Amino acid sequence: MAKKDDGLLGGTEERLRFYAELDAEFLFNEQPPRADATSSPNTGQPAGQGAEGLEEIAREVRSCLKCPLAKLRRQAVPGEGDAAAKLMFVGEAPGEEEDLQGRPFVGRAGQLLDRIIAAMRFRREEVFIANILKCRPPNNRDPHQEEVQACSPHLLRQVGVIRPKVLVALGKPAANFFSGSSLPISLLRGRFLEFQGIPVMPTFHPAFLLRNEDNRTYKKLAWEDMQQVMALLGK
Ligand code: URA
Repeated sequence: MAKKDDGLLGGTEERLRFYAELDAEFLFNEQPPRADATSSPNTGQPAGQGAEGLEEIAREVRSCLKCPLAKLRRQAVPGEGDAAAKLMFVGEAPGEEEDLQGRPFVGRAGQLLDRIIAAMRFRREEVFIANILKCRPPNNRDPHQEEVQACSPHLLRQVGVIRPKVLVALGKPAANFFSGSSLPISLLRGRFLEFQGIPVMPTFHPAFLLRNEDNRTYKKLAWEDMQQVMALLGK
């Protein structure tokens, strides 16, 4: 018997199946696939040297008093990950949970970022995760320009030590920082820009994806952006 929707769905059916697989792998998978052992991004760079450099930056971040956010923090959040990471994610600023723990992306947005990283066939420890601001702005408000100016040297030094093959800018403040523009993320995402010779892919912030969970278009676009990143990394 002919299927009722034959001819009606045509190529659409295939597209829907494709999006359903994407969702299963990337967005709704409670236990994402683990990266295989061969995907280590260690590049032969002596880990100690890079790691020591990053630890020194982290110490400076923890004692930094360059902007008023320092007085409000419970803990600074320097960032964490592999000093030889090929892939580096840069978000906006710590939220409440990050401020409590002193670690980046450990709240709800962090759980989604973890799923994105796993779907890209990396382990969290293999990438580096940082933010534009290292201290939490009150009530998670957007970073002020003076704060970005005061704080960004820490991030620039981290990028200089790690020299990742690709940077992913999560959300507007990070995308604006690397692009030097004030365009909305919807216009910046999906195309590589270059920052100090490093390709940067701007994409939607995981918190934005969570806020718009009913709108699959944003997730689909974010996943397309990550697929471009994976292609550049030979994944
Ligand atoms: N959002 C960010 O931009 N960074 C974090 O570390 C957590 C949430």
